[in-house]
Amino acid sequence: MDTPFTATCTCIFCKHAASLSFTAEQGTCIAFPDKYPVTEGHLLIIPKRHAPDYFSLTAEEKKDADALLHRLKDDILQKDPSVTGFNIGINNGYDAGQTVFHCHIHLIPRRKGDCENPRGGVRGVIPGKRGY
Ligand code: 5GP
Ligand code: ZN
Repeated sequence: MDTPFTATCTCIFCKHAASLSFTAEQGTCIAFPDKYPVTEGHLLIIPKRHAPDYFSLTAEEKKDADALLHRLKDDILQKDPSVTGFNIGINNGYDAGQTVFHCHIHLIPRRKGDCENPRGGVRGVIPGKRGY
């Protein structure tokens, strides 16, 4: 990795940067598997710099994160033909469900039949509001 994480930061992503076993790197950002995946292949994309949420990212970090999303999507589709969709999500703030306060973008592969009724997807952040 060419740019070090924020060395003095105590957040788990900065603290454990060396052991995150990242799968891809793009300039200011890296991607690695989520430790508690929602589905097989669930990845997290984060800036190397400690930034608490999406709204704290620089234009360059957003560009690199977006490029990683596209690269990883292509890679997943090529390796796993069972993947037929994706959820891309960011929890910004405690009240929005964020638990790790180092910005991360969830890339969650979806497969036909992986839940009974996928309609509404990310609307499910408020239980009971996914359907409409
Ligand atoms: P949040 O709720 O903040 O959006 O998501 C935090 C994510 O980080 C969760 O999906 C959780 O599984 C993941 N996570 C928590 N601790 C670790 C860890 O030590 N390593 C990795 N790879 N993922 C983690
Ligand atoms: Zn951090």
